[in-house]
Amino acid sequence: MIVMKFGGTSVESAAALERVASIVKARLDRRPAVVVSAMGKTTNKLLSIAADAAAGRRSAALAQLEDLRSFHLREAEPAVLEQDRPAVRGIIEEHFQELGELVKGLGLVGELSPRSVDAISSYGERLSSAIVALAFRRQGIPTAHVDSRNVIITDGHHTQAAPLLSRTYALLADVVAPLAREKVVVMGGFIGSTERGVTSTLGRGGSDYSAALVGAGIGAKEIQIWTDVDGMLSADPTVFPGGHRVEAISFAEAAELAYFGAKVLHPATVLPAVEKNIPVLILNSKRPEAAGTRITAETTSCANVIKSIACKHRITVVNIHSTRMLMAHGFLKRIFEVFDRHQTPVDVVSTSEVSVSMTIDNTARLAVICRELREFAEVDTEENQAIVCLVGENIRHTPGVAARAFGATGGANIRMISQGASRLNLTFVVAEQDLPKVVGALHDEFFGEPAPAVSG
Ligand code: ADP
Ligand code: ASP
Ligand code: MG
Repeated sequence: MIVMKFGGTSVESAAALERVASIVKARLDRRPAVVVSAMGKTTNKLLSIAADAAAGRRSAALAQLEDLRSFHLREAEPAVLEQDRPAVRGIIEEHFQELGELVKGLGLVGELSPRSVDAISSYGERLSSAIVALAFRRQGIPTAHVDSRNVIITDGHHTQAAPLLSRTYALLADVVAPLAREKVVVMGGFIGSTERGVTSTLGRGGSDYSAALVGAGIGAKEIQIWTDVDGMLSADPTVFPGGHRVEAISFAEAAELAYFGAKVLHPATVLPAVEKNIPVLILNSKRPEAAGTRITAETTSCANVIKSIACKHRITVVNIHSTRMLMAHGFLKRIFEVFDRHQTPVDVVSTSEVSVSMTIDNTARLAVICRELREFAEVDTEENQAIVCLVGENIRHTPGVAARAFGATGGANIRMISQGASRLNLTFVVAEQDLPKVVGALHDEFFGEPAPAVSG
């Protein structure tokens, strides 16, 4: 068995749905189980509808909901058999009826809890998975639609829920694995439910993670992430277009890249794959013949020092100064306790004799974090910064990588340089506005003549 996950752009239209069905049909001998994202930009739209509804902008919310309903009808109807059209219409109408009630309810309550955000955003994958299952029938693929909320069980940390692994794996093995031996199981990514049956989500981009969970739970031989690029590229194409496809990377490299912003893979995806040693492939649903990127436990030998450059946008640097007691016992602990109490992850940390700098991505609690830090230190913050992360196992045993990197970036102001214990990355912070220039210069330096294993 294999798992095939299709992202939002891969299922965004009737034509895309047909492409996905052909890709799956051509691989039926590998007994695929399919995980799908919401169609196109549906999740963003649902979140905007929820925000409008809770803020009392009811007519704006209802108008957007109507647009989303007609989008689903327009793309789904031609994608299914004539005889399945009443069924697909029925499914869409029923889901939008419920969404309409939720929107009205939110307007009355006037506030948006994480639990209600999940209730609304889950509809994208609930709809897409039901539609994809019917679209597969049009190409004669025997399908079984499984509601992911019955098998992916999570904690109650709504909008960022963590799966309860042993429960989830047991349900996937008992419910999905036997079905997947007979039919193509189609499930929505991103969504799950708590032990009490309340709908939850795994966080933005979480369908990749769902696919990996399903792969680990059913004992798949491979997890395929089908998206809109040819694989992991040597740089984020939205910052530096024209990067090369990376043929193969290790789980450790993929985890660093995903964590530091390579959106093509959700950072948690690698965990279940590593645990069960299942290869992950990144493939392009618009060019299914392209070889993609293969992610495995092995470190493939590669003449390039760097495999890829990731970047994380719009991060905030928090500088904490203390002339008196920085290196005093317990000072760093006190700082980290503040971030921990406010559930704010810290990405990069660097220290000097009198100061500590850290980067954060989520600034929702920044004001109160600063207030608490100021009880024992001076604090200032800098917005509009970006993290640049060079990743490659070869960094570990190649001297002079930092000199080449910083030599190439010329005039840009480079800060907070760090290299984790794994020594497979070199990470630093630059101003967001310098990012394209810096990434371009680094790409020229390290990929001027790509080795075959990187260039594909
Ligand atoms: P999906 O909807 O299929 O999950 P995503 O938008 O989440 O797709 O991820 C694919 C996108 O990731 C690409 O379109 C690209 O803009 C972005 N991306 C960022 N960094 C990289 C990288 N290093 N390699 C490939 N794509 C990247
Ligand atoms: N639909 C969800 C999102 O847009 C999950 C995903 O596509 O991975 O974040
Ligand atoms: Mg994604």
